[in-house]
Amino acid sequence: MTPMTTLDYPDHLACVIFLQGCPLRCGYCHNAHMLPPRRSDGSEWQAIRDFLKQRQGLLEAVVFSGGEPTLHSALPAAVCEAKTLGFKVELHTAGPYPTRLLQLLPWLDWVGLDVKGHDRNFDRICGRPGIWQRNRQSLTILRDSGINFECRTTVHWRDFELVDVERLALTLADFGVRRYAIQVARTHECLDPDYNQTMENAQSKNMLPKLIKRLTPYFDRLELRS
Ligand code: SF4
Repeated sequence: MTPMTTLDYPDHLACVIFLQGCPLRCGYCHNAHMLPPRRSDGSEWQAIRDFLKQRQGLLEAVVFSGGEPTLHSALPAAVCEAKTLGFKVELHTAGPYPTRLLQLLPWLDWVGLDVKGHDRNFDRICGRPGIWQRNRQSLTILRDSGINFECRTTVHWRDFELVDVERLALTLADFGVRRYAIQVARTHECLDPDYNQTMENAQSKNMLPKLIKRLTPYFDRLELRS
């Protein structure tokens, strides 16, 4: 847990709870220690519950992140509890479990949805088959729910050409995504050591800010994060 941050929940003072375990295997992942799932005896949530009770009126929001938090069947109960304690709730997810996302919707205030790539490229980038359709279902659920959400894509030049970034962004805009963030992947301490080598795709790298400027009119908010 990060006990306090202003960086995750937009304009709110929040804590971030990281849930262990992720079914995906993105080559650029720098959270390898977070990937194996692990069962808790409940004592960790009890400690977090106590922490949240002490922070009522001080913190405004709780962010559930990972790993992949929707992997956990106990997540809806935890999210409901955080909400009942008076906090706003944000979820970070890559959307591999749309049914669980649907279950969580009543308590969520803000969602950051990772979109790893365009259609089948999604599965290549995240190292697992069949995830892009599930992610699309999750995106559809969010779009149709009216909830505040942002799509996010991490760009490693091993996975993307500039044209792929543009195609993905335009597809998302067409689909009704209003907020989008593109983040350039780190090239150290990656899950796949091949991703530690900087792909000197200098042209794409230099052209990215110009592409972002060109894409800006398609969104309410488009950010390039480093
Ligand atoms: S970067 Fe990919 S593998 Fe790593 S935690 Fe996120 S979704 Fe899972």
